[in-house]
Amino acid sequence: MRKGILEELNKSSITVTDLANQSWCEYKVYLSCTQKEKQTYAMRAGEAVHMNLQKEVYKELSVEPVNYPDVIYKNAYESIMTMNSVIDNGKGRELKIEGDIDGFTIRGKIDELIAENGQTVIVENKTVNGSSGAHNNAIREMHSVQAMVYRLMLKNIIEKRYTFKKYYDSNRISGMKLSPQFIQGLKDIGMKEDMINIGAICLNMFEAYARLPKISDDLIIRYIDRESKSIVEEVRLKYDYAWLSKILQKDLLFWNKQKAPEPVPKEESWRCRSCYFLKIKKCSFGISYLS
Ligand code: SF4
Repeated sequence: MRKGILEELNKSSITVTDLANQSWCEYKVYLSCTQKEKQTYAMRAGEAVHMNLQKEVYKELSVEPVNYPDVIYKNAYESIMTMNSVIDNGKGRELKIEGDIDGFTIRGKIDELIAENGQTVIVENKTVNGSSGAHNNAIREMHSVQAMVYRLMLKNIIEKRYTFKKYYDSNRISGMKLSPQFIQGLKDIGMKEDMINIGAICLNMFEAYARLPKISDDLIIRYIDRESKSIVEEVRLKYDYAWLSKILQKDLLFWNKQKAPEPVPKEESWRCRSCYFLKIKKCSFGISYLS
């Protein structure tokens, strides 16, 4: 797997959120990789909305992981449950997904998958304050990138460009051992003996991807008011590989260390006003734009 700037940033992978956020401000992505952004009220309220949505249809593995292989196992099990829920009930939420783009490992979590007209449609749920945010083109571009990257990753798995073997090798599954406590916990809840095996559960996850209904070119971005929890707007867009490729090509220059991270252009400095890194005086670009 390609490392690029990841080693410097102490990261093992690029997240889909990183790629989407580059459309807003690449320099902010760089800063947030080196120092954690303090959680705001809006972030906490947004997380609460996601948690409530997740609870409606998510089947969590009740056994607590003890070590990292246990976490991989739990994620794979819950992904299988989410995909089974799409197949059986027409809806699944919070699908953790991994893939690669240009040799980099990419990780993310798809908010929702729904079955519609015999196809699987990706839905991204975004929380907003009232109707603000949903009508801003810059924000909408960021969300479009996110939904399209998920569409690309899902299709790459289903069409075997990102295979079980790649996943197995990149996560070094062969040397992994589940903890004795976790194994006992799985036995206690009645997990089948042949499924108490990290390789077997991960293979099962890739088989579940293959059972999903055909992945639609339609994508949905749903804007939800974080106070009333009601849907403010639902935007439908078509997957556009040419548009996404151009954006990813530019994004990857940063991850490949071929260029320094770019701040927002001066004429777009309004984006800086709500930026955490401006508030803590860590971004000289934002300070000079707004002084
Ligand atoms: S202040 Fe502006 S340029 Fe600086 S990181 Fe924040 S959004 Fe980017």
